[in-house]
Amino acid sequence: MKKLHDIAAGVRAGNIRSLAKAITLVESRSPDHSLAATALLDELLPASGQSMRIGISGVPGVGKSTFIEAFGLYLTGRGHKVAVLAVDPSSQISGGSILGDKTRMEELSRLDSAFIRPSPSGSNLGGVARKTRETMLLCEAAGFDVIIVETVGVGQSEVTVASMVDFFLLLQLPGAGDELQGIKKGVMEIADAIVINKADGDNRPRAELARQQYVNVLHILKPKSRNWQVPVQMVSALHGDGISGVWELVEAYRTAMEQSGEFANKRRLQASDWMWSLVMDGLRDQFMNDRQVENLLGTVQEAVATGVTAPGAAARRLLEAFKRH
Ligand code: GDP
Repeated sequence: MKKLHDIAAGVRAGNIRSLAKAITLVESRSPDHSLAATALLDELLPASGQSMRIGISGVPGVGKSTFIEAFGLYLTGRGHKVAVLAVDPSSQISGGSILGDKTRMEELSRLDSAFIRPSPSGSNLGGVARKTRETMLLCEAAGFDVIIVETVGVGQSEVTVASMVDFFLLLQLPGAGDELQGIKKGVMEIADAIVINKADGDNRPRAELARQQYVNVLHILKPKSRNWQVPVQMVSALHGDGISGVWELVEAYRTAMEQSGEFANKRRLQASDWMWSLVMDGLRDQFMNDRQVENLLGTVQEAVATGVTAPGAAARRLLEAFKRH
């Protein structure tokens, strides 16, 4: 336990080696580590929460790493400490991580005031997200005051990331029609800002066209908050144009949400939802590993498959067996 205290003290002092050790504990699959990680997170919780949490999403190639590098360098230049985390549950499905393979954010990664962590491994979005949420708290306790959580739009990952951040930014490409991908997938509903990247050179008129279309679509969508009109901005991450404007947006959002009380409220709801999802995960694990359930499962499943027992009755039998001890 002394060792845990040392790690916690190191994290609070902003020591990167301690932070890395703490994250390793959080990411570990061993049950011993899981207990230690819980104790550590409990101890560090009061030191967390003091950051702006920003989610960033967009299709591969939209310029996420270029943007985050430019944005991160801008912020560190202004005295912020920036942590970049990733949620990428695809790594085990596709056999290679979409986010992690190439050398990314090279300049940013060399700074002491920046910390870049690839996505925890795992094919299960819930598990990957849980580790990232916990790592986010550790980074906050270590003094990082801007946390960026990056994700590719794979399955539900955008919604999951939106549920762990204060501000969700959707990066889009110039163009129109087909490229309004967000509309089809429903991600525009969760975006707090839309940023059209690559608004440079020949792309500029197409970026403007896309901006107009997004503005039009946003007029039709029901706003998430009556205190915030989702802005659509153009940037060139490559040339660093418009980057400071994005940070101004984030700050304006924070001010508006703090004034209306929505900022704190959203975090409270997120924390409570998170707790419930952990309870549900825990119950599911306990159920699946329960001996009585395991003993019954084969016969009950067979009975359902052959139409001998109704699914409802079978589920009740399994739950009764689980409850009885
Ligand atoms: P990611 O897959 O979303 O992380 O995208 P990358 O940041 O790796 O960028 C994909 C490609 O787009 C790279 O070749 C970048 O150089 C290029 N790119 C990124 N941002 C811009 C930009 O603002 N303008 C232009 N013209 N190219 C860009």
